[in-house]
Amino acid sequence: MQAMDMQDATVSCPVNIAAPRARMVVANWKMFGNLALCRESLPRLADAANAKVELVVCPPAPYLGEVGRLANRSGVQYGAQDVAEVTHGARTGEWSADMLAELGCRYAIVGHSERRDRHRECNQTVAVKAAMCIAAGVIPIVCVGETMEDRESGNTEAVLAKQLNAILQLMKKNAVFVLAYEPVWAIGTGLAATPEMAQDVHAFLRRQLALFVPEWGESVTILYGGSVKADNAASLFAMPDIDGGLVGGASLNVLDLLSIYRSAMI
Ligand code: PEP
Repeated sequence: MQAMDMQDATVSCPVNIAAPRARMVVANWKMFGNLALCRESLPRLADAANAKVELVVCPPAPYLGEVGRLANRSGVQYGAQDVAEVTHGARTGEWSADMLAELGCRYAIVGHSERRDRHRECNQTVAVKAAMCIAAGVIPIVCVGETMEDRESGNTEAVLAKQLNAILQLMKKNAVFVLAYEPVWAIGTGLAATPEMAQDVHAFLRRQLALFVPEWGESVTILYGGSVKADNAASLFAMPDIDGGLVGGASLNVLDLLSIYRSAMI
């Protein structure tokens, strides 16, 4: 299939691959790290991972095979940082959701602001990518977030609703997906949202989810991402509507990541 039309992209999850509203910490290594980092981190993460909080590593794609090998039979899950919006084709440098499933990936991040910005990914592209993941049995971690300009002009909720609605329109009621609220101004800046600010947005996102499917307001896992560190994770994760974190920079240090992971275990 070369392209999906919006109608065909309406899919449901073929298997029950995640418990509703799991607590999670997801490490997004972005384009950092090397084989040494995989080999240093994975055994330590495997020792710490337990069933209370899902621990997920999203390394650069070339390391997925090694991370999969190292994570094998441990509690650590792994995923990709992106996925193509088609199942196969002449798409140099891309990979499909089926390929990720074949590699044992449980998750794929879609719609990260760095992809929306640098690769001009629009809401519809992100929505189709999420749908492709679900069709392949890979759980999409769908990122939404406002820029500082959006926030300062009072448009945070309108922007988030638009991003979210594009995605939810392609989901069937039994779809399993994770949402990540990542304010663009907080990513990689050291300027995290306050717990109260993040909580307000997560509560808004739950109300939006419930408009589509009433149960989703309670059942969908919503992660906060944007300068989560060892010293602010506990206060963010203590908020009632925040189920864990999507962690960039701090996830490259295994001790910091483990500390953040422990903070989610409340
Ligand atoms: C991210 O990459 O999704 C992210 C939140 O990065 P950082 O934690 O470095 O802000």
